[in-house]
Amino acid sequence: MKIDFLDKYYYSGELGAIYSKEKTVFKVWSPTAEKIVLKLYSEGNGDNLIEENVMTKGDNAVWNFTKSGDLQGTFYTYEVTVAGKTRETQDIYSKAVGVNGDRGMVVDLLKTNPSGWEKDKGPKIKNQTDAIIYELHLRDISVDEDSEIKNKGKFLSLTETGTRSAEGEKTGLDHLKELGINAVHLLPIFDFGSIDESKVNSKQYNWGYDPKNYMVPEGSYSTNPFSGTVRIQEMKKMIKALHDEGIAVIMDCVFNHTHEYENSAFNKLVPKYYYRQDDDGNVVQNSQCKNDTASEKLMFRKYMMDAVTYFAKEYHIDGFRFDLMGLHDVETMNLMRKALDKINPQILMYGEGWELGDEVTISDEEKATKINADKLDSRIAAFSDDMRDGLKGHVFEPDWGGFINFNGKWVRKVGKRHLAYKIADLKEQIKFSIVAATLHNDIEYYKVPYKFKPWAKEPTQTVNYAACHDNNTLWDKIALTSFNVPESERVKMDQMAAFIVLTSQGIPFIHNGQEFLRSKPDESGNGFVENSFNSSDSVNKIDWSRKHTYRRVFDYYKGLIKLRKAHPAFRMTTTAEIQKNLKFFDTKDSTIGYIISNNANGDEWEDIVVIINAGDTADKVSLPKGNWKVVVKEDKSGVDVLEAISGDEVTIKARTSMVLYGSM
Ligand code: CA
Repeated sequence: MKIDFLDKYYYSGELGAIYSKEKTVFKVWSPTAEKIVLKLYSEGNGDNLIEENVMTKGDNAVWNFTKSGDLQGTFYTYEVTVAGKTRETQDIYSKAVGVNGDRGMVVDLLKTNPSGWEKDKGPKIKNQTDAIIYELHLRDISVDEDSEIKNKGKFLSLTETGTRSAEGEKTGLDHLKELGINAVHLLPIFDFGSIDESKVNSKQYNWGYDPKNYMVPEGSYSTNPFSGTVRIQEMKKMIKALHDEGIAVIMDCVFNHTHEYENSAFNKLVPKYYYRQDDDGNVVQNSQCKNDTASEKLMFRKYMMDAVTYFAKEYHIDGFRFDLMGLHDVETMNLMRKALDKINPQILMYGEGWELGDEVTISDEEKATKINADKLDSRIAAFSDDMRDGLKGHVFEPDWGGFINFNGKWVRKVGKRHLAYKIADLKEQIKFSIVAATLHNDIEYYKVPYKFKPWAKEPTQTVNYAACHDNNTLWDKIALTSFNVPESERVKMDQMAAFIVLTSQGIPFIHNGQEFLRSKPDESGNGFVENSFNSSDSVNKIDWSRKHTYRRVFDYYKGLIKLRKAHPAFRMTTTAEIQKNLKFFDTKDSTIGYIISNNANGDEWEDIVVIINAGDTADKVSLPKGNWKVVVKEDKSGVDVLEAISGDEVTIKARTSMVLYGSM
């Protein structure tokens, strides 16, 4: 790891506009600045300068200025001179900002709390594997006219109750409650740069993976982006409304790059420092969004930790998802885990542990990738692309199917030949995913397309999913791989993906709308949109009429969630427990069968049999001799007994899954 010479100025204390009624102390770190002037304004934009104050450089290159009086609501910027060049910027430690985040605002955070905030708390999620995560974008879930939600595309959209679609189906917050998930993961809600907040009534859409002010809520999600406090108040109201329904709130963090480089606040305050540079001093651009930040540099590491701990304390955030976590270093992530544990050890941490291009400042061993999970705390998880692609085919090869939609198109190159994987190979990849990518004797690792070693130390390190905001939706991917299969059969494929995600060990994750076959049709009528980060509402919106059309699919998801919540055997917390209690049994190549024994993880059920038949014909499966009760069969799921079986055999219909419990 390359040490930056500016790291020797590391400052561990509080930075930003430190407010009290009597005075505000401004502190900003910059070892390279020659001069910094604090500018005070009455508004977040426009020509309304109040005064200018030259700041004093103190120890560890911290510039400070103390202004007496109650400054709540006063906007501020820093005019920074570095190498003879003077530029004005907002504070990277801004806790409130004006429109478009160009000026910080001094804020009395106590005034932003909704009533009852002191008692507000997220639900108890004892172990990471107890979370059932639901990923959503604030605009997608609310913008459809049919949602009946008034505050479309706003934080407040998730505070509304009693909203119904034209067919009378619950929408928004009521829908989340009905489905039964216990955690929502929101696409970026920190202040990002791609939406012009001064024109929020014009049609603009973005996912928001372009951070501008990390410690402030996004203005376009508030009802008044010009006010410094409204966005904070409304984000807190949303969090409280979700907490009141027993739903945890997870923020999507995008620390790996900033909205822009040259004119970012980071670069204006300390040119280049916060970013990775090559030996010639050029900024490294490995992330797709350019401008890689440098988690290993001490003041950016501190910044990341300050931001997450601030959200955990001030906003009662229950979890953090890290975009391109593989760009961060292992040490930073582990230190962050320790810092969050001091606030609440239940806080979830997971991210995209992908491998990326060459790094010039950290080595492969230092990256927080999934293959380095053994170096990460066992409560830092990574997304399982093994599960995602094994289920439905590779995300970058539209017509390749996986285990649920097997079509023989998934190929590998051997010399000059292209050899197709067999369903038996994909079966092994799914078995690997069922045990949460941990080490298990029943897996033949050499067979699976993703020949990774069992990368997770513990099941708490694995997020299982079939789809998320990226790439085609699950339903669209099934259409692309299986266009000649009737819809009724494609529905079964979708249900099988849900079944596998929600019964597997690890942490399950569902994409908003997946439970009623969400689609992102291309507006031109040709196919589907794969990357809808700035597509129109018509592509991205949740079409609530589908909930009614595909009500049976929704009910199937709901039943599986109920089953998972009621039965800790599906949520074991250690690899040792899984090895001891979960055994696969012999089945044909398109069928997976396993048994979870010993009242695993304190389950009231002694033995649980899980069978998945991805083939297009029925299969007869041998059962251990005993008395078995069926709770999931065909398109029915839940905890109620559907039928009893005594004997040593069961027939499972094509493209269906089963759960049975009993004792041998
Ligand atoms: Ca913004």
